[in-house]
Amino acid sequence: MLPVTQGEDQDDHDNYCRVHKGETIKYYCETCNAPICLPCTFLDHKGHQIEEIKNVRDSFNEVSYTTTVHVIKVEPHFIAI
Ligand SMILES: [Zn+2]
Ligand SMILES: [Zn+2]
Repeated sequence: MLPVTQGEDQDDHDNYCRVHKGETIKYYCETCNAPICLPCTFLDHKGHQIEEIKNVRDSFNEVSYTTTVHVIKVEPHFIAI
């Protein structure tokens, strides 16, 4: 309903761990496909495949950009038909 507000909320949640409030997301668990914070790496995600979020973020941005372009392309196509 309110995509702009939703987007802002998601940005806030992306920066901080949902489990450990106040902890900044700095890592990404490949095992769970989830962004995590430092305590997560040795608690819930101990022994999992952990990547630094910096390495993952570039591909994230690429994916969301591609998805946005794709949606914009498809919509006029449907309207034309
Ligand atoms: Zn955490
Ligand atoms: Zn994990």
